[in-house]
Amino acid sequence: MKPLIIANWKCNPTTQQEAKRLFNLVKRGIKSIKNTEVVICPPFLYISNLKSQISNLKLGAQDCFWEEKGAFTGEISSLMLKNLGCQYVIIGHSERRKYQQEKDSMIYKKIEAALKRGLKPILCIDKISQIPSFLRKRGGRRGRSPLRPKKDLGGVIIAYEPLFAIGTGKPCSIEKAKKMRLLILRNLNKNLPVLYGGSVNSQNARDYIEKAKFQGLLVGGTSLNAQEFIKLVKNVSQT
Ligand code: PEP
Repeated sequence: MKPLIIANWKCNPTTQQEAKRLFNLVKRGIKSIKNTEVVICPPFLYISNLKSQISNLKLGAQDCFWEEKGAFTGEISSLMLKNLGCQYVIIGHSERRKYQQEKDSMIYKKIEAALKRGLKPILCIDKISQIPSFLRKRGGRRGRSPLRPKKDLGGVIIAYEPLFAIGTGKPCSIEKAKKMRLLILRNLNKNLPVLYGGSVNSQNARDYIEKAKFQGLLVGGTSLNAQEFIKLVKNVSQT
């Protein structure tokens, strides 16, 4: 698998023009980098105006609802995202757990909804107990999900995002991240890709792939600076 870099723009930028500008700068900057897959996850309302004609730049979303349509004010469904051309969706980001009080049970329903529509869910966790039971090895610590999805779970991607490292400028050490990656893999019932997220920048990105053996990165702050983000992608592509 090529290294996967997910750009989480969070609640930025504040205008459509800025979003287009940032997206187009990234598109131009990474055009010639073929061995790394980049996924931009902008706020929902910008998605339909961002078009990627290059195969190494994909679109994703920062969340999705578990129902497909109906009386659910303010929600965006996985079906809507699929119809807009999204291929990935971040689920269970710590900021949603904190500010929207998202619970594991809600997060697991969102994963199932994303899989049903062929989106690749990126499940963010900062501890082993957040791995749902349907992804856990038998005999491991039990998750709290009541779900038993019939869909193949091969499409799930795990992002290890330690809370202390998100948006703080204090990245997790390579040694600790490496240990956590192995612990996550030991608890999974299949060999899913594991990404690292938390204060990744153009300088430290490569080490998480090369030394800690993550299959990719989830990048917040740095993804809002086109030049730094392109540099980060280039550095990762040289691993
Ligand atoms: C994130 O949004 O998931 C994240 C890791 O943010 P940052 O890169 O800013 O720490």
